[in-house]
Amino acid sequence: MSDTTRESVPDREAVHPHFYEQFIEKQHRIFVNRNLRMRSIRWVGFDMDHTLALYNRNFIEALAFDLSLQALVREKDYPRELLGIRYDPDFGIRGLVVDKEEGNILKMDRFHYVAVAYHGFRVLDKETRKGLYTSEPMQLSSPRFWSSDTLFGLPEIALYASVVEALEEMGWPPGLTYRQAFTDIRTCVDLVHKDDSLKSIFRERRGECFLSDPRLVATLDRFRTEGQRLFLLTNSDYEYTDWVLSWVMNDGERGRPWWSFFDLIVTDSHKPGFFHEGIPWKRLAIADHEVPSFSGGNVRLLEDHIGARGDEILYIGDHIFGDILRSKKSRGWRTVMVVEELEHEIRVGLATEEQRAVIDQLEMANSDLLARVARLRRRQERAAAVGAPGPGDAFSAEEKELESRLTRNLLRINELEEEIRRRYNPWWGSLCKVDGELSRFGDQMRDFACLYTARVSNFLYYPPKRYFLSPVEFLPHEI
Ligand SMILES: [Mg+2]
Repeated sequence: MSDTTRESVPDREAVHPHFYEQFIEKQHRIFVNRNLRMRSIRWVGFDMDHTLALYNRNFIEALAFDLSLQALVREKDYPRELLGIRYDPDFGIRGLVVDKEEGNILKMDRFHYVAVAYHGFRVLDKETRKGLYTSEPMQLSSPRFWSSDTLFGLPEIALYASVVEALEEMGWPPGLTYRQAFTDIRTCVDLVHKDDSLKSIFRERRGECFLSDPRLVATLDRFRTEGQRLFLLTNSDYEYTDWVLSWVMNDGERGRPWWSFFDLIVTDSHKPGFFHEGIPWKRLAIADHEVPSFSGGNVRLLEDHIGARGDEILYIGDHIFGDILRSKKSRGWRTVMVVEELEHEIRVGLATEEQRAVIDQLEMANSDLLARVARLRRRQERAAAVGAPGPGDAFSAEEKELESRLTRNLLRINELEEEIRRRYNPWWGSLCKVDGELSRFGDQMRDFACLYTARVSNFLYYPPKRYFLSPVEFLPHEI
């Protein structure tokens, strides 16, 4: 092969961007919103909570719920009867919005249209929803609303619904507003995170707090052997970070400590403020190692320290506003969003393929039936116009038959859609979709992150210098 020919051979990965993907199970894939060449990335940064450290959510959410409920009774004098409430782990999902004025919890689509709403655990009918939420555009930044954008925020959504429901059943306390009830819950949730009550149980039961990911250490190792340097950027303090990572980054027999994987460690980082405020940092003197470690700081200090900026940096985190949006918009960092719920979303998507195929068939059958009804009506009208003694009864019998088939199909479609919705989540359906539209969360995930995936270790399934290419997008008129 001559040199010229060799040069003209294009990069195989660029030609076949999805070449490897057919061998990767869907829940392990990395999904691409915006093209990203791993070859151009010099530094890879990691958030800790829900990114490197995957929490055993059943355990920690129920714990946060119970402790906050106890604090509500103890510190805020709520009735003791509330202590009987049990946590429903399905009730909170990311992207929900609390309407503190009305005591409702809302799921919106990407246009902020409220598609599902609950008051306590009672679903609001369409009329009520429309009456409350369609007369004017929703100002989500107003103090009336609060959104659950992090996984840590989910227990308080469930707690608010439970408390509203229970207090209304036992007689709403005079003088208490829905807004005050929410503020009290927020205060108590913050309290159990800040005082030692949650962490002291964590400390005793560390083994129950986390899900282990045996591929995590190998993933970080491979970034390093491929020449990328790694930093940790977390809002947690050093002591907690050390406690968490020495557990979740267990290196087995090789026994390398967690900090040996990083070239820079930043704790107490106050993201998203880290990306737009000028807070100084303080160098930490750590007895165990000499990896540069800081508390606080800001993005300029970090970029100066590592000698890289903008799109040479890939940052991996789970929080749309804390990790993804600011780092990308204000500094041009490339971003990966870890969405651990994706594993469930993808499993349900695959398990309901048959129902979706039936829905497609029924919809096609219905468009055919509608066309037949329209043709029949035209024939009726023509017959009536010329005064022909048409077969009137035969017409209406046929029309009736077509319409009853249409109705049967529609009912079946609704049943199947409800079955699918419940498999995602009995209260809210899919995290990413609502009524066939992107949900508010799904929209943010698509708009703000360059890549998204369920776990950091999914990088291990891909070639290290992967060119992640986004699928071609079409405008409606191009389809
Ligand atoms: Mg996090």
